[in-house]
Amino acid sequence: MLKVKYISFLGAIFLASCTATTTISEQRKEEVSATNISTTLNYLASDELLGRDSGKEGNIKAATYLTKELKAYGIEPYFERYEDELTKVANTWNVVGVIPGKDPQLKNEIVVLGAHYDHIGIQTAIAGDSIANGANDNASGVSILLELARNLSQKDMKRTVLVCFFTAEEVGLLGSEHLANRLKSEEANVVLMLNFEMLGVPMTREYTTFITGYDQSNLAAKINEIAGENLAGRFEEAEKMQLFKRSDNYPFYLAYKIPSQTFSSSDFENFKYYHHVKDEAHLMDIPFMTELTAKFVPVVEKLINLPSGEIRLKN
Ligand SMILES: [Zn+2]
Repeated sequence: MLKVKYISFLGAIFLASCTATTTISEQRKEEVSATNISTTLNYLASDELLGRDSGKEGNIKAATYLTKELKAYGIEPYFERYEDELTKVANTWNVVGVIPGKDPQLKNEIVVLGAHYDHIGIQTAIAGDSIANGANDNASGVSILLELARNLSQKDMKRTVLVCFFTAEEVGLLGSEHLANRLKSEEANVVLMLNFEMLGVPMTREYTTFITGYDQSNLAAKINEIAGENLAGRFEEAEKMQLFKRSDNYPFYLAYKIPSQTFSSSDFENFKYYHHVKDEAHLMDIPFMTELTAKFVPVVEKLINLPSGEIRLKN
């Protein structure tokens, strides 16, 4: 997530009250691989990638890995190549794959799924460690999106889905800005954008994730209706801090004026290593991430296949 100047707030902790009901996600759980999620997370957040600073060697290694994985899953490039090269930052690119829609009409509408793979690189050393590994921010979102995309690619989707791994988020949302503007200039008909950001640890709240810009659209209500549970909540502090404007959903909102929102489970109480050299892979909760991905698969599938106009901005 893009650095905000002041992170200080008092947030009430809500204890989750869970009841044992069978939800749609439980039927699909076996299709989501904890091993895949763990493998991606551990590679991206390894010291070898040196914090994935945009344009640096570790950032390029991350992009290369993601390209290789998309290829292995049969997810083809949306443009002529997977690499959507930035102009404002040298030597770095978004990785963009496509799952073509199958419905004769709706395939012309595009749903963008995104997560940023860059992070903040080398920082001031603490106890001899200077690598900001960015496990939660945002190897977690990338690992979840990659496994989600693998699952979606095995289904017949009505709309066309772009699977986007953004670079240069940490230096000002530059990767997503570049791609949103490129798609707009090419008259690509993007109708919905879902972004995955800092999803490596669970919250103790009455919802599994919060969605930024909660009041902007009916997206969260639709998600919870489909999920049959509180998958996407309204987090008061996220609204106060305007996190809606602090991640890669925002450039798509600006370019298209569509529902374009970010899922996160980092409420600044459950993880204390935001932009810190201790944001490391072993602190991530793989069972939680796996369960969350299993919840996302059927929900995102249904969102992609909804009739036109069902998800809309308010006013
Ligand atoms: Zn960040």
